[in-house]
Amino acid sequence: MLKKLKSFVQFCWMSLRAYSLYFVLVISLFVMSSILLSTLHRQREANYLVQVSEEQRMHMGVVYFTLKNMADVVFEHVINQDDILEIMALAAKTTVESEQERLRGLLYERLFLTYDNLQKKDLRQLQFHLPESVSFLRFHQPEFYGDSLKGLRYSVDQVNETRKFVGGFEEGALFPAMRHVYPLFAGHEFVGSVELSYSFLAVRSLAYHLFPAIYTLMLDKEIVVGALAPGREKGFSLCGVSSRHVRNNLVIPYIKQELMESDLLSMSDFKKLNKQLRDVVQERLAQNQMFAVAQQLPGIDKVLVASFLPVENVRGQPVAYFVAYHEDATLKSYNQRYFMMQRVTLILTILLLLGGLAYYRQAHGKEKYQALATSDALTGLANRLHFDLVLDQALRQARRSKEPLSLVMVDIDNFKQVNDTYGHDAGDRVLIALAARLQRAIREQDFVARWGGEEFILLLPVTDGGQACQVVEKIRVAVAKIVVPAGADRIRITGSFGVAEFGEDMSRDELLKLADQALYRAKASGKNCVVKA
Ligand code: GH3
Ligand code: MG
Ligand code: MG
Repeated sequence: MLKKLKSFVQFCWMSLRAYSLYFVLVISLFVMSSILLSTLHRQREANYLVQVSEEQRMHMGVVYFTLKNMADVVFEHVINQDDILEIMALAAKTTVESEQERLRGLLYERLFLTYDNLQKKDLRQLQFHLPESVSFLRFHQPEFYGDSLKGLRYSVDQVNETRKFVGGFEEGALFPAMRHVYPLFAGHEFVGSVELSYSFLAVRSLAYHLFPAIYTLMLDKEIVVGALAPGREKGFSLCGVSSRHVRNNLVIPYIKQELMESDLLSMSDFKKLNKQLRDVVQERLAQNQMFAVAQQLPGIDKVLVASFLPVENVRGQPVAYFVAYHEDATLKSYNQRYFMMQRVTLILTILLLLGGLAYYRQAHGKEKYQALATSDALTGLANRLHFDLVLDQALRQARRSKEPLSLVMVDIDNFKQVNDTYGHDAGDRVLIALAARLQRAIREQDFVARWGGEEFILLLPVTDGGQACQVVEKIRVAVAKIVVPAGADRIRITGSFGVAEFGEDMSRDELLKLADQALYRAKASGKNCVVKA
């Protein structure tokens, strides 16, 4: 098993080297397409998220508009009535406390039931102020009045100053709210103002019904908590998403209820999501701009999107974020398509790589086969077949050019003894070493081949017999220096060499026979020598 793996790795490595350019090309193509895919995917997701936050902005616009309309209707048809304006006109004029008390009582009687009904419609505060921002009657706290709101409630101050409607989000002593403050006129005379406010619970409840999502309001800790009356801050706690923001605790039961209804997440997963968002949105929250982020929770097959819409107070300060959470099917399908494309490119790459390996295997096999046909498997030298072709060519050339040519037969002395003493494998190693030595020892124009067994043959073109003997003598000395280790022993060999010079009208076989005869004589005269025919 291990051996198979090793040979496979070796095969891969060889083909990698042979086709490195191809493999580098395929891998770079894969890397490039992966980068491209992921860039496109991220861009697409980012564009989509911009669209989501734009949508949330529009949704909240609809919610504000609806609430403002409701407040307008209440003001026009319920509050802005002659008898009420008359009460306020009298109250604005008098400084007599008992008279004010009486007028306050009248106003309370007049609107008590209305206030009760409005509360059922989520209108949280109905509050009358005298000119100079003095609180006259709070329907939610009728026993607490006469305090000045100057400097505390910007919207009320603004109405006193401009005598025009002021509306918007504003922090306050009880809680931040969507406030609508209307000036009151008896005839042409400014007699105070009235405030109709919705708490955030009313805002989110309307939003939840119109544009289903889970809504929270993240309030700037410093501004909002700073405006609360002492003790009121207990009703707020830190947001999971940001350490700079708090949320009204009253919202929690609603979130629990809606999470269950909408089957979005469990409360504990919702907390996990917020924790996860914390790292992602911290920096962006500081920029006071709308944005949306997509998140996934481990083990939950949903893409969750949280969009953050900054809220300014009536003064134009950024004080809060409306956050809407929803599950997003579009992004989920984007993700699925992206992963599919990634998988396809990966599979394509693997196929291309395997194709490369298969092609290498086939081409390499052919090469090996071709090499086998012309070379000797053990020594890698040319085989007899190959030598025949080369010899024919060389003889033709020698005949044509009338240049000399010599042929040398080489035979290892007492090779049988080597085999007998050290084993066949050691004998093989000797043959390999000798082949390498011969290959190195010959000149560039010469040619060497394995003739068979422990016999080799050298072809020395443009070399006469005398020159050949000189060359071969050097080779003989070099062969005698070969040392092949065999266990603790070292095998040394010698060779006998028969040299024949090609004569003009000699045949190929006659030349070979001459060389063979010279070799025979070398053996007969004691081996390890060079004999010329
Ligand atoms: P001489 O000096 O007369 O040439 O004696 P020799 O022992 O070399 O000659 P002989 O012809 O008796 O023996 C040749 C031996 O070479 C016999 C054979 O087993 C061995 N032989 C031939 N081919 C191979 C081979 O490929 N590998 C090995 N290890 N031995 C081989
Ligand atoms: Mg022999
Ligand atoms: Mg021999």
